[in-house]
Amino acid sequence: MKSLQETTLATQSQDIKNIPFSKFSASGEELSCVVEAIASGGIIGDGKYTKLCQSWLREQLGAKKVLLTHSCTAALEMAFILADIQPGDEVIMPSYTFVSTANAVVLRGGVPVFVDIRPDTLNLDETKLKDAITVKTKAIAPVHYAGVSCEMAPIAQFAHQYGLRVIEDAAQGICSKYNDQPIGSYGNLAAFSFHGTKNIVSGEGGALAINDPSLIDRAEIIWEKGTNRSQFFRGDVDKYTWVDIGSSYLPSDILAAFLWAQLQQADSITQHRINIWSRYHSAFEEFEKDHRVQRPIIPRQCQHNAHIYYLLVDSLETRTQILANLKRFGVQATFHYVPLHSAPAGKKYGRQSGNLTVTEDICDRIIRLPLFANMTFEEADYIISLIQESLL
Ligand SMILES: *Cc1c(COP(=O)(O)O)cnc(C)c1O
Repeated sequence: MKSLQETTLATQSQDIKNIPFSKFSASGEELSCVVEAIASGGIIGDGKYTKLCQSWLREQLGAKKVLLTHSCTAALEMAFILADIQPGDEVIMPSYTFVSTANAVVLRGGVPVFVDIRPDTLNLDETKLKDAITVKTKAIAPVHYAGVSCEMAPIAQFAHQYGLRVIEDAAQGICSKYNDQPIGSYGNLAAFSFHGTKNIVSGEGGALAINDPSLIDRAEIIWEKGTNRSQFFRGDVDKYTWVDIGSSYLPSDILAAFLWAQLQQADSITQHRINIWSRYHSAFEEFEKDHRVQRPIIPRQCQHNAHIYYLLVDSLETRTQILANLKRFGVQATFHYVPLHSAPAGKKYGRQSGNLTVTEDICDRIIRLPLFANMTFEEADYIISLIQESLL
């Protein structure tokens, strides 16, 4: 690999472009929906826009019920309350994930059990489930990394065989499919994120999809601070009171109004991201043939949403150099998770099952490239040329 000095950068003649890693775009009705929510006095939770978003998601996912939350973290917390995780209960999940997947289990006194990931999709390796299961195992939490689905058919079959719940961390999975069914429709419960860095955004935001109808009533109660407020407003009960544990998991309707406008553009946002993703993918094909990089692998049964475009390079050293080169030319590319089994809280609260060689190997070699809703092909080409020059 050449150093910057000896590289004849094609970009020298160009202006340096500043390209952030992620940038949200409010190019639809976001502002007018927010104004409308405020003008109609609908600023608390569970208002008009919350209901609109919930029914849109319910239809999109084919879920029995969807509740908007203020984050995916909140939706995961609700999910593990609903899964009835008790102190000492174990939940199998990848180590290669965001902290919220594990933290939501730990908040119930449960133990995250970290297993390795598949080298192709970087998703939980379903062949490792059997070795991870104990008498304490209560649930599996597959995480759909980069919006590419986990192998939900064998995971669901395994869960069924051993009587485990499946809680999908679908934070990155909106508008993705597995075997033609949406991500988030396979588990008993699924948690989505609308955080500003995700595909569809409301700044902070999330949703819990409930596919198991027996969990709906309790989900509404947990969502509403442990009260039966929802049943009361429907006229199902004549008193509104404290009936279970819960918290305040609702977003304001102002945020839901923003989200509603985003959801209307879900198809066009996803399509544009796929176009940028594909441009990266074909540009790096040649480099993959030369074994300079490994590109993402999308199994045939997975229809993804282009949440992340990543490359795997040969070493930590190469990664550090490429990231530095990109930064020098204004491009914010980045690495990803510190595996949870190696994090201080992961060691304290979790347990590792088997070796995690794929996780440990890829976490030092992954580079995520900028990808956002209104990114231009010109910006993608600039990034591609910088990486090609760094790798020559
Ligand atoms: C973003 C993300 C979360 C957390 O989402 P928030 O909405 O920010 O709480 C959880 N899990 C995964 C895999 C994520 O990517």
